[in-house]
Amino acid sequence: MYPDAQSLSVLVVDDERDIRDGCERILVRKGLEVTKAENGQQAMACMEKGPFGIVLLDLKMPGMDGLEVLRRIQERYPETLVIVITGYATIETAIEAMKRGAYDFLPKPFKPDQLRIILDRAMERIRLTEEARRLERERQRTLHDLAMEKSRTQTILQALPDGVLVSTPDGRVALLNPALARMLGLGPDTTLGKPVEEYVPDAGFSQFVRRTSRGEVQSGQTGLTYDFSPRERLYLRSHSTPVLGEGGECLGAVTLVYDITELRMLDMLKSEFVAHVSHELRSPLSTIHQQLATVLNDLVGDVPPEQRHMLARAKEKTQGLISFIGDLLDLSRIESGVVFQERRPVDVGAVLRGVVEFMGARARGKGQTLSLDLPEGGLPRVHADPQAIEIVFGNLVSNALNYTPEGGRIEVEGRPADGQVRIAVRDNGFGIEKRHLGRIFEKFYRVKDDRTRFITGTGLGLPIVKGILDALGGRVEVESEPGVGSTFTVYLPALEE
Ligand code: ADP
Repeated sequence: MYPDAQSLSVLVVDDERDIRDGCERILVRKGLEVTKAENGQQAMACMEKGPFGIVLLDLKMPGMDGLEVLRRIQERYPETLVIVITGYATIETAIEAMKRGAYDFLPKPFKPDQLRIILDRAMERIRLTEEARRLERERQRTLHDLAMEKSRTQTILQALPDGVLVSTPDGRVALLNPALARMLGLGPDTTLGKPVEEYVPDAGFSQFVRRTSRGEVQSGQTGLTYDFSPRERLYLRSHSTPVLGEGGECLGAVTLVYDITELRMLDMLKSEFVAHVSHELRSPLSTIHQQLATVLNDLVGDVPPEQRHMLARAKEKTQGLISFIGDLLDLSRIESGVVFQERRPVDVGAVLRGVVEFMGARARGKGQTLSLDLPEGGLPRVHADPQAIEIVFGNLVSNALNYTPEGGRIEVEGRPADGQVRIAVRDNGFGIEKRHLGRIFEKFYRVKDDRTRFITGTGLGLPIVKGILDALGGRVEVESEPGVGSTFTVYLPALEE
């Protein structure tokens, strides 16, 4: 109320005119506003017009006694500081006044300096009280704002139709909104704070969330999305983002979970349709291909070279169509989950040796080196269909050979990694620009630039790789730099043996 001397008013109550005027002079010189009263009644009337920060009060006055004035001031204006002036009153009266809450006392006669010292103290006290009050008001406001902010955020989280999961760096669940609880079939009174696997029955999802929570995934890197199905006829897609502190340290992750069941169902219908059409097309195409091969083999006599060339092109094209249809069929079967159900412990190292050996001839044909590096004790086994594993690495190595110029180097490296098997397929080929990296796992997506335009492909290899790995609870990541090369890294959960 009285932040500085300018706005501080003082009431001087004394029946002696000299004292009143003397006090006034000193107070005015200090820049204070002064009002004077001769007796108790006048004093109380002035108080009503106040406010006064300080009252200098003579205890011995005719009419209303000083102690009574003190009592009334304290009753009605508890914030006002009262300094009692004691003339011929005994020291006991002053003590009594102090006991009743007067701020200080000044014995008559007093020197200007004595009054100044007491005034300075009182003004400092008022300033401190005011400061404390201001801080308290600010604290209240901050608390209020916080409470408002919290309830607003709560409301949004409660009402959000998508799932939200907030996790700590050690993979514990700090928040899980009602939408996610519903998707996972958890009760409304689910207690928080437990490891993520206790809420979501999907090993791949927990690993995904744990990795982001530890800050292992940088935004812009692929692998920030994970699809899973916690129960039949429910498909969820999750996006996870690490939350970084001011110093760049990872504080945990926020994972959004969307229900993509409808999309998935449509996709399945589409896959079924594609599978059906492909199946119908495959047999007649194979027949045409075989017949073309037979005709080409049995050509006798004077066949003009252009005709021979046309037949050879037709055979090549039908071969291309047959493998395209093969990829389409594979993909639609993978998506509908009907293939690769035959899971057993698989030695990934052995599968890799087979793939590298098979592709060796193609690499040599392009003057490329294709090497395999496995740890001495071999790799831990994984629980999968060996054919699926073969398709994954067949595609990745085939791409590496395709998108690396003649004389290039392709390395396949397998390592055990923290309960998983990590296989990297590295090439020093064309590389992929950052803007394509997020899209190459989409169906039919192909990067078309001057160097890759003439390389034939279907754009289905990587979606097949991703589809298989999703089904196996694994994942694939890619790092690439144009002109330097690409590395596709596959992670598969290792069997505990
Ligand atoms: P396809 O190879 O049949 O075109 P994929 O789905 O296997 O289809 O790959 C999609 C695209 O990703 C390719 O067209 C190519 O542009 C790019 N790509 C895949 N692997 C590599 C690689 N090792 N190096 C450079 N680009 C690659």
